Amino acid sequence: MAPTTHPAPGDPSSDDGAEGPARALPRGGPSAADKARLREQLLALRSGLLRSNRDLAHEALKGSGQVFSVDHFADQASDNTDQAISISLLESETDLLKAIETAILKIDGQASPPYGVCEDCHMQGAWAPETSAPWIPTGRLGVVPYAHLCIAHQEEQEEQ
Ligand SMILES: [Zn+2]
Repeated sequence: MAPTTHPAPGDPSSDDGAEGPARALPRGGPSAADKARLREQLLALRSGLLRSNRDLAHEALKGSGQVFSVDHFADQASDNTDQAISISLLESETDLLKAIETAILKIDGQASPPYGVCEDCHMQGAWAPETSAPWIPTGRLGVVPYAHLCIAHQEEQEEQ
């Protein structure tokens, strides 16, 4: 049992300091139990990805004797289809890994905005009061625990 010190969701006294929201966050968001469960999911996803990343990196570096570096072998291996596929997979997995790690940091209270808050809503400091915004619905987090956008903003991004 690790001691946890992060504030409760919606706690009005929680303040991230310099880059806090323009507007106080409304009540809502995942409960402490939800967050503990989602954190476990994120850790499991992360370890699966790390294993897969290792295999892909191994494939992309095969025979080159190079030190691991995505940027480096993107240049080196652009003429090799197998390696290029591995690199492209590795890059998208690396993005996913970053999203997962950011989500874990948010749950641990080490990144802003708090876990479960849509980053676009938070940045704009404005959201429609009749919706669940800026909180990402817990049901959505259960499916995509590393989600960083509400459904409206996610759809907006996908349209672009
Ligand atoms: Zn949003």
